[in-house]
Amino acid sequence: MKRVNKKTAKPVKKRATEGGKLAFLGTTGAKPAKAAKVARAVGRGTDPRRVAAILAKLDVAYPTATCELVHENAFQLLISTILSAQCTDVRVNQVTATLYQKYPNAEAFAHANPSELEQEIRPTGFFRNKTKSIMGASKGIIENFGGQVPKTMEEILTLPGVARKTANVVLGTAYGIAAGVVVDTHVIRLSRRLDLTKHEDPKKIEEDLMRVIPKEKWITFSHQLIWHGRRVCVARKPRCIDCNLESLCYSKDKTV
Ligand code: SF4
Repeated sequence: MKRVNKKTAKPVKKRATEGGKLAFLGTTGAKPAKAAKVARAVGRGTDPRRVAAILAKLDVAYPTATCELVHENAFQLLISTILSAQCTDVRVNQVTATLYQKYPNAEAFAHANPSELEQEIRPTGFFRNKTKSIMGASKGIIENFGGQVPKTMEEILTLPGVARKTANVVLGTAYGIAAGVVVDTHVIRLSRRLDLTKHEDPKKIEEDLMRVIPKEKWITFSHQLIWHGRRVCVARKPRCIDCNLESLCYSKDKTV
């Protein structure tokens, strides 16, 4: 089947690479000679040399990457993460600036007036479901965990509204426990663009990342990928010209 350039609608020319296989010009972003040189040096996909090179470049670009949800403790981070579903961290931080003054702990949220709480968190969207999750999680923490957010994946997943993404955020950021890799919309997009996974399902993506990323990097890697996804490798028209991973990336979404 003939391949065409998406921008020009013209057929894509073929050129033999050094390995003797045919590469399609204009579909990988990287120039074939440069891409072949990089591939020779670090391999492709999840080759440990390539993964190490990606991690090193993320360290250079984002040495201080961390969670951007403002919080003072594990409980506040849990609530903020629940609120952040389908919402920006900036918006969540605006809402929680006053919310945590009125509701300073699990006890206060557990006994909130649901209608009032719904209106207070309304700007974050999905406010009815989020109210149920916040109040349910707060009750669960009081009744089953002595008022403290639990520190194991198994326990934290028993709380209403808490799935693996939220659990990984809280365990990693608040407690420094690497139980998994946070897989949000940015991590899904970037780990696919960087060819660290072929999957689309968050659970399978997390399993792939846990296999290829060293455990001691799980927490930092998640934050760095999220920062990169917000600042450079954005969903539409990634800013590849400003990307320090460009030489390692052969995504079809590349813009250079
Ligand atoms: S910004 Fe471009 S070069 Fe960088 S990781 Fe994203 S798609 Fe690849």
